[in-house]
Amino acid sequence: MTTTPHLLLRHREIANLDQLEVYLQHGGFEAFKKVVTQMQPAQVIDEVKASGLRGRGGAGFPTGIKWSFLPNNLWPHYVVCNADESEPGTFKDREILEGNPFQLLEGVMIASYAVQANLAYIYLRGEFWQIAHRLDEKIAELEKAGFLGENLFGTPYSLQLRTHLGAGAYICGEETALLESLEGKLGQPRLRPPFPAVVGLYGKPTVINNVETLTNLPLILEKGAAWYKSMGTERSPGVKIFSLSGCVNRPGNYELPLGTTFRELIYTHGGGVPEGRQVRGIMPAGASSAIISITEDRLLDTPMDYESVAAIGSQLGSASVIVLDDSVDFAWLVSKTVNFFKHESCGKCTPCREGTFWMNRLAQRIINGRATPEDISLLETVANQIAGKCLCALGEFSVMAVTTGIRQFRSDFEHHVNGSGSTATGG
Ligand code: SF4
Repeated sequence: MTTTPHLLLRHREIANLDQLEVYLQHGGFEAFKKVVTQMQPAQVIDEVKASGLRGRGGAGFPTGIKWSFLPNNLWPHYVVCNADESEPGTFKDREILEGNPFQLLEGVMIASYAVQANLAYIYLRGEFWQIAHRLDEKIAELEKAGFLGENLFGTPYSLQLRTHLGAGAYICGEETALLESLEGKLGQPRLRPPFPAVVGLYGKPTVINNVETLTNLPLILEKGAAWYKSMGTERSPGVKIFSLSGCVNRPGNYELPLGTTFRELIYTHGGGVPEGRQVRGIMPAGASSAIISITEDRLLDTPMDYESVAAIGSQLGSASVIVLDDSVDFAWLVSKTVNFFKHESCGKCTPCREGTFWMNRLAQRIINGRATPEDISLLETVANQIAGKCLCALGEFSVMAVTTGIRQFRSDFEHHVNGSGSTATGG
């Protein structure tokens, strides 16, 4: 079994880590003080680049490289923490925000110094209003303690943090829709290029990083890039929080090195599937995943890193691993994911707006036993018409479960069409 001390979920071992006094007793804000008083911003960026840290929100883009795209002839720069955690199956950022908020705030502050931003925002999903309220209190404590404000530690560097609540739209997790929402506009994605690194918040260069990504930073700056790279795999270094859910005995967040296998996560940490059942499929990136069909036992030995999961036809994404056993009706599963994406489509571009509507109609018709065999192929055709033609990733995500579900589990759909329905329960 892979065991490492918690780095991001340290509150599980340290009681009251969400209290400033306790966080300071455990080395809190020493990394931030070090970077502000002893390092040039470029050195901080180089250290994060050397660590190999990749964005934990889903895309897996190298964090230090993302920071280095900000031009130094356009000011001001902004940092935005993306806390709009909304992917069905993902619940890792919430645990950090509730249990280890100061490590996240310190990460936001280190990122801000690295790109010389004097104002940073934490954008939270609307349902996290209690968390936002608590973060506001913690930010006020940091101002009082001299970790935020003007001329920090006697240097010319100044920094302010602000929280901002969304209004419950999944699409605002997409970084350009998030920026629109933060500016007070309708949360719809922007055309890219230009990218936010050049034209971001209020038209200025902006770094947007996920909660988990930023929470890694204090430890990287304290212990060094080489230490961080010693965990995980060569191309996917470090630790990751895997949100495990679905047909498992012990669902929850598991912080493990990248490269841990599905088998270890599901059976060793998650206690396996209910007795007498077999894993039939895995969605490794929540509702947005291409479904992995477990046709051979060896697939469970796939390491969960960005490259290995892609090599078997899916994505690691935010590592929200949904386990599907042989009690699950995959037609029902697909109907649920399609209904979600139809509801969350922002309506800006036609393929996604119309396509998710029609996919939902067809999927509902199938599971309600009112479809013909041609409707299964029609659902697949509509999905293929959407793919590659959308303005943002939501449209692409909406077809993943549909195309991989029909291709690999067609018999589940045919059960409904043949009038017999599925014997499975839908989880
Ligand atoms: Fe909006 Fe969907 Fe188009 Fe994205 S793909 S911009 S969510 S309509």
